[in-house]
Amino acid sequence: MTAPLSSAPPIPFDNTFARELEGFFVEALPAPARSPRLVAFNRALADELGLDAGALDSEAGARLFAGAEVPAGATPLAQAYAGHQFGGFSPQLGDGRALLLGEVIDTHGRRRDLQLKGSGRTRFSRGGDGLAALGPVLREYLIGEAMHALGIPTTRALAAATTGEPVQRDKTLPGAVLTRVAASHIRVGTFQFFAARGELDKGGKLADHGIARQPPQLVAREDAYPAPPEARRGRPAAPLADYVIARHYPELVAGDDAYLALLEAVRDRQAALIARWMHVGFIHGVMNTDNMTVSGETIDYGPCAFMDRYDPATVFGSIDVHGRYAYGNQPLIAAWNLARLAETMLPLIDSDESRAVERATEAVQGFVPRYEQHWLAGMRAKLGLSTERPEDPDLIQAFLSALQSANVDFPLAFRHLADAAAGRPEPLRALFADASAIDAWRRRWEERLAHEPLAPAQRADALRRVNPAFIPRNHRVEAALEAAVERSDYGPFEELLAIVTRPFDEQPEHASFAQPAPLDAPPYETFCGT
Ligand code: AMP
Ligand code: MG
Repeated sequence: MTAPLSSAPPIPFDNTFARELEGFFVEALPAPARSPRLVAFNRALADELGLDAGALDSEAGARLFAGAEVPAGATPLAQAYAGHQFGGFSPQLGDGRALLLGEVIDTHGRRRDLQLKGSGRTRFSRGGDGLAALGPVLREYLIGEAMHALGIPTTRALAAATTGEPVQRDKTLPGAVLTRVAASHIRVGTFQFFAARGELDKGGKLADHGIARQPPQLVAREDAYPAPPEARRGRPAAPLADYVIARHYPELVAGDDAYLALLEAVRDRQAALIARWMHVGFIHGVMNTDNMTVSGETIDYGPCAFMDRYDPATVFGSIDVHGRYAYGNQPLIAAWNLARLAETMLPLIDSDESRAVERATEAVQGFVPRYEQHWLAGMRAKLGLSTERPEDPDLIQAFLSALQSANVDFPLAFRHLADAAAGRPEPLRALFADASAIDAWRRRWEERLAHEPLAPAQRADALRRVNPAFIPRNHRVEAALEAAVERSDYGPFEELLAIVTRPFDEQPEHASFAQPAPLDAPPYETFCGT
């Protein structure tokens, strides 16, 4: 394999995925990029990764981040995965437009993937061009960084670089590459690929779903792995599960039933993650199993958006015509996805299949109560409650119902609770066409607050630390992307990025960025981020 080696400073790669999971990827090289230009660079993240930020924020860095040159020590590869997309199983997806460059150990000692997204075709591209347009690249950058600033586990954006190559969509658009950083890019769909492959070995039921037509590297090769212990024979997901345990859940290694514990650990992280999404009104938009990590990070920002007016049925993605991935469905979809993960792990969980199904089912059924615990704890904090009382769920539900029936903006309503807690209810009341609809609720809330230990001023501060003032408002995101794409003006993108990465600060000079789109704006719809 030959590719121009980068003149950027060396990156200390240590590529365990490439070393340990042979058969689970194909090597590939980025497409040539004629005139790379670095349009966004995340210096703070580069520092955290232990990279030389000054040296990478340069022309050499632009070539590297546009995929024009491959850094020394990288082992560029496209990962294989399968996945349920809108409920239907695709046995072979894989990185059709992304390349894992390798892994680095960051300054906190955590292993992080560096991945190029939009860097050209791979063996998994099917009919796609392997490319990304500038708009969706900047969108993923902005929303991912906003999510991180909100304290939500997510992949991060290290850089966005334009390639100088056109990308053909509805119209011709500037091409770009996102450099993404993740705890790993291993998905529920990665396990599904493994399991489907195991079925193929046994002539199983998936053989007629197209998987038999895979390129040779992807056909099962048990000899590609260290000889499995006797007890593990016939359990194709074992090498991947072992890798995931070692990388993401090392505390499980020693225990009995490590694989069941792995399923439970992924479940627990996802329960916490989805609750955090719900607390900020985040709608992922495409919760296919290939877009759900086993690390518990949010991944693959496509047609995602933040909900403004509170309505659990809110859907933004234009392809989600049945509302499968609506805001209010997200917890149940996560549980459904975990059930698909559990299926891939059955042979690891118990050699007796019916016993395995029983134990896996019990583990997956544990998702909803755990999610509800996280959700309730977070909602208590969002109402300024630091103690627990039995009437809290009703109080929370009554607030949400009031927002829904009066069509009130979700982030602003919570944000204004801080002022209300400090004796200034007007901003909250002003959100309601008929303020009496919230006054009745406020009386209940104030009675409840009387049981709380904090003083009102402290409570107002605590509320401002959990209820963001600034989320990436859809119309602001669109305006920032349009300026960049249509006029090469990155000012609005940079301004918006700076604002939404300080979501809890007051920023009075940017007050208008806290506001939703005007009521007469057309309904917001996002398109699949390709
Ligand atoms: P996504 O909707 O981005 O999660 O992608 C779903 C699948 O389609 C993944 O296997 C991607 O690699 C693949 N894909 C998406 N866009 C493209 C593209 N432009 N070219 C090739 N493959 C793509
Ligand atoms: Mg995806």
